[in-house]
Amino acid sequence: MKALRRFTVRAHLPEPLAALEALTTNLRWSWHPQTQDLFESIDPTLWAKVDEDPVRLLGEIAPSRLDALATDSEFLERLHAAAADLDDYLSRPAWYQLQRERGTALPDGIAYFSMEFGVSEVLPNYSGGLGILAGDHLKAASDLGLPLIGVGLLYRSGYFKQSLSADGWQLEHYPSYDPQGLPLRLLTESDGTPALVRVDVPGARTLDARVWIAQVGRVPLLLLDSDIASNDEDMCKVTDRLYGGGQDHRIKQEILAGIGGVRAVRAYTRIHALPDPEVFHMNEGHAGFLGAERIRELVTTTGLDFDEALAAVRAGTVFTTHTPVPAGIDRFPIDLVRHYFAGPNGENDSALLPGLPVDRILALGREDDPHVFNMAHLGLRLGQRSNGVSELHGEVSRGMFEGLWPGFDATEVPIGSVTNGVHAPTWAAREWITLANRLAGPDRVEESRGWELLQTVDPAELWSTRNVLRGQLVDEVRRRLRNSWLERGATEAELGWVGTVFDPDALTVGFARRVPTYKRLTLMLRDPERLRALLLDEERPVQLVVAGKSHPADDGGKGLIQQIVRFADQHDVRHRIVFLPDYDMSMARFLYWGCDVWLNNPLRPLEACGTSGMKSALNGGLNLSIRDGWWDEMFDGENGWAIPTADGVDDVRRDDLEAGALYELLERSVLPRFYDRDDRDVPTRWIEMVRHTLENLGPKVLASRMVRDYTVDYYTPAAEAARTIVADDFAGAKALAEYRHRIDSAWPAVRVAQVDSHGLPESPVIGSSLGLIAHVQLGGLAPDDVQVQAVFGKVGSDDTLSDTVTVPMRHSGSDPLGEEFTVDVPLPLSGAVGYTVRVLPHHDLMATPAEFGMVALP
Ligand SMILES: *Cc1c(COP(=O)(O)O)cnc(C)c1O
Repeated sequence: MKALRRFTVRAHLPEPLAALEALTTNLRWSWHPQTQDLFESIDPTLWAKVDEDPVRLLGEIAPSRLDALATDSEFLERLHAAAADLDDYLSRPAWYQLQRERGTALPDGIAYFSMEFGVSEVLPNYSGGLGILAGDHLKAASDLGLPLIGVGLLYRSGYFKQSLSADGWQLEHYPSYDPQGLPLRLLTESDGTPALVRVDVPGARTLDARVWIAQVGRVPLLLLDSDIASNDEDMCKVTDRLYGGGQDHRIKQEILAGIGGVRAVRAYTRIHALPDPEVFHMNEGHAGFLGAERIRELVTTTGLDFDEALAAVRAGTVFTTHTPVPAGIDRFPIDLVRHYFAGPNGENDSALLPGLPVDRILALGREDDPHVFNMAHLGLRLGQRSNGVSELHGEVSRGMFEGLWPGFDATEVPIGSVTNGVHAPTWAAREWITLANRLAGPDRVEESRGWELLQTVDPAELWSTRNVLRGQLVDEVRRRLRNSWLERGATEAELGWVGTVFDPDALTVGFARRVPTYKRLTLMLRDPERLRALLLDEERPVQLVVAGKSHPADDGGKGLIQQIVRFADQHDVRHRIVFLPDYDMSMARFLYWGCDVWLNNPLRPLEACGTSGMKSALNGGLNLSIRDGWWDEMFDGENGWAIPTADGVDDVRRDDLEAGALYELLERSVLPRFYDRDDRDVPTRWIEMVRHTLENLGPKVLASRMVRDYTVDYYTPAAEAARTIVADDFAGAKALAEYRHRIDSAWPAVRVAQVDSHGLPESPVIGSSLGLIAHVQLGGLAPDDVQVQAVFGKVGSDDTLSDTVTVPMRHSGSDPLGEEFTVDVPLPLSGAVGYTVRVLPHHDLMATPAEFGMVALP
């Protein structure tokens, strides 16, 4: 029999243990080892049985044990110390508060929207990298004291759990989670009733959601949940699964996350009497409808028109794109979007967002294909500031979205980059945290001094830590492999061999990630005999641990998993290569801690950033990777290895070449170094690389670095722009919208009529002065409505300018040819140099001159 409904009944906490409530529900425990130790000491056996989940622990603990603890003075002392530490963590001035004290301008509040959040395995609300990144973002924001609110959906089944069939095919199952059994509390009104968020859906119906709060240190994470009695059955299912269902299901989720998400933020700040967020950050485009909702708010409450409201919303919106794979971009049939937003009979007056014209909403997600609504384009049009997630990905994104800024070179497309980071207290093994604390004092993992002091540590000590961590991984591999084989139908009696799988002293390589084609799970199998030889080498063996989930609808990916599993099932190699099912945070941790080498072989440049290699590096793992994503900018020749990439070669040959290079690196560089020991059996040259990795990458890969970068380079300018544009009853928004209208109508007549030069010597050298006079027709615009620029650059044979330098020109008069602009410049470049003149819109409230995607050239 199956239960119709489920719920969790918690034991009543005796008064002296009341502090356990806050300690278990604030997820800060998940990155605080002392609090974890405290939980474990409540009942070590049960702690392991409930998979180290404190809410489950309190749900299953015997009341008699609680009564005993309530009089255990040693336990109470530790409990109160942990509670005091949490209070201190939540209230002490952190980076944000200290910066403010010094007078640095910072935003009053940031709302951060993401479709998934991987904060901890006890809240399984993520599928992979994007979600874990969002979780790390919240934790680092909490550590830094940033006033950030996370917004997402609560999925009844989270993402699927993976197991294997006997023949190695991925099986999916969807456990259902009961919110009461999760570390969540309901957002309630002052009278105790649950706060409800409502959005209208076609057919005069509504989609309601209650709002759960997961407390991530200082940061509240609001999670909307549609599984409530006031919804029709189909609306209850809107938040059933992450990335499950078809387009219709998906758009309902995105409407709820974006539009409902803004409403949830409003409810939260109203109930808690907090300031409204000034900045709205879209972590990927899924929640892009939030911008339309904020336009609606302004249109209905302030009397702004659509364009004025759009200008105001854009100022405070930041958009982060995460995929360089065009197929990875979220797109909807335009008719589906129209169906949800239009009036009941298709009227242009939106029923979902009353007061907004549907054609204007649809235009925000326009792309080349008129039948498609593109969520990334929506994000780019709604965010005055946007970015990719590594330097290389920023560059790739500028190229990929160039079409939205016609007339501009890709280098000028206003998409920047903030390289992702990872939360050290979550991902670094306790052994490293303890070492860092010993070297630099407590709570200093986030500062670079601790890393530098590693120089003073004996290589033998670093090596022994690596050995301890590898040993833990080997135990975990055996445990998980046994469970997997039992699930695949084996009996205990057949599994004696599992107890000796893996060698705690052998070079251990990890490869774990989702399984889209571009990540090339099976590249290592390209030459199976060469791999076999590496695995079976008597003196210098490699052992390989592989994990990853394929999207349930992707049979291709499941086929790749099956190839790996079939290879790993072979009797001669099964002690050296394993595939572990159900890659998630709890498994990932052991892999990052214990692997000596972290392998990554994506098709460059399709990995936007990648963060698993960063987590490995934080534990002294050495990366062996294609120079893609973060590794392209952080590989320095000594912190790991770069697999040469064969960009531009066709895919089959490319795989051969890159796989060959991978084997070769392993054979010639990686293995010799690992097995080259001194008289204490320490691989000193290896440990030098470990030390260098920790020292050099440690400070750079941190989520705190990432969140500071966002705060300084994106949130603060966005908050300032938003403040400026709404001041004096939205004077800025009105002025910018009015300016935009004028530009739109005048622009077709704007042109560079004539350019004359003078003063160039016979044989110019760098720094020789060149005078330019341009005559420009402005179609009725005033000279200070535009910026006229001289653009210098290197010229190729087709006269294309590259490495350009722009110099603003000065308005110097007008005559029948048009407005005259002039400049005298020392030549900034040598070699074959060319120049041109162009006209750009210019307004103080634009973030960059490229913003409108308008430019007039001769
Ligand atoms: C870090 C992490 C990822 C993302 O890793 P990538 O390198 O971006 O593929 C995925 N899943 C889990 C469980 C992680 O911890």
